[in-house]
Amino acid sequence: AFNFSAGPATLPEPVLQQAQAELLDWHGVGASIVELSHRGPEFMQVAAEAEADLRTLMAIPDDYAMLFLQGGATAQQALIALNFAAPGQTVDYLVTGHWGKTALKQVQPYVAANVAANGEPGGFRDIPARESWKLSQDAAYLHYTANETIHGVEFGEIPDVGDVPLIADFSSSIASEPLDVSKFGVIYAGAQKNLGPVGVSVVIVRRELLERAGQPRAEIFDYRAHVKGESMLNTPPTWNWYLAGLVFKWMLAEGGVAEFAQRNARKSALLYQVIDNSGGYYRNEVAAAVRSRMNVPFFLHDEALDKPFLAEAQAAGLISLKGHRALGGMRASIYNAMPEEGVQALAAFMRDFQQRHG
Ligand code: PLP
Repeated sequence: AFNFSAGPATLPEPVLQQAQAELLDWHGVGASIVELSHRGPEFMQVAAEAEADLRTLMAIPDDYAMLFLQGGATAQQALIALNFAAPGQTVDYLVTGHWGKTALKQVQPYVAANVAANGEPGGFRDIPARESWKLSQDAAYLHYTANETIHGVEFGEIPDVGDVPLIADFSSSIASEPLDVSKFGVIYAGAQKNLGPVGVSVVIVRRELLERAGQPRAEIFDYRAHVKGESMLNTPPTWNWYLAGLVFKWMLAEGGVAEFAQRNARKSALLYQVIDNSGGYYRNEVAAAVRSRMNVPFFLHDEALDKPFLAEAQAAGLISLKGHRALGGMRASIYNAMPEEGVQALAAFMRDFQQRHG
């Protein structure tokens, strides 16, 4: 089946096959990688290769530290305020969908958060124009969500906010196209869409920002301590880290992010084309310039068709197309691991469904 789940999302088949082949006996050591100490030479090698491969894949400069942490993207949303904003300092947020709202909620106990732009009055169907943003004078950072997984809204360009460090949630679009990492203070992402299985998050942080005092916090919430401890302050999620490492190797072998950028552009263009050419049978309500390449929410013209659409799609091997409960309708998540054949099959199914139920 082709799995269009928004996350945990589909993993590349060769990665699952390799994990299966190595599950009981990793590289002949006589034990599974999940049974080995995170401080042993075997796992240390897995961890080091994963970091090196992601650095290569995303062209991450040396003055950025990388962390592989637990807690998901949501925990990082809270930790950024604790680590990078002093008590009472203002932080700026661009809220362009559900996850931007979540990010804001996570920092409100700690800092004065200014909503510099809010797409909610427009139903999160567009990103408010740059001229309308109300930026603070001395913000500790500006946070935005590069791709809104539920609303299907994606920034086409990195926001230009001068010298204010940019902190961005790339959970659902990381490593989907080339990115100038040097433009960011912090990039974070839960792995479970483009990078691997749920249970590990990647945090890429400009080292200079780690010198900020931030707020009083326990060591386990302190990015400096995690950097010093090489993401092994406590027992790390070794299985998830290992699987993510296999995904990085697969992506490099497939041609890297430049190749995935092309595939992703073709995949999303095909789906939007089917939707836009359906004469209103299907509709996507997001402004064309900010439509997501990763998550394509769409509605059928008559809600009564939702059930048959999902049932017939499932029978055709096209699964997890039900939209998020906040929006209803359908959503096709088409991350790096979704092959082009999967999207072509969905496009053909949508056209066929329209003909039969039109
Ligand atoms: N941010 C974005 C853009 C997401 O899509 C998600 C999850 O779907 C999250 C944050 C929350 O991630 P987690 O469940 O890893 O905390």
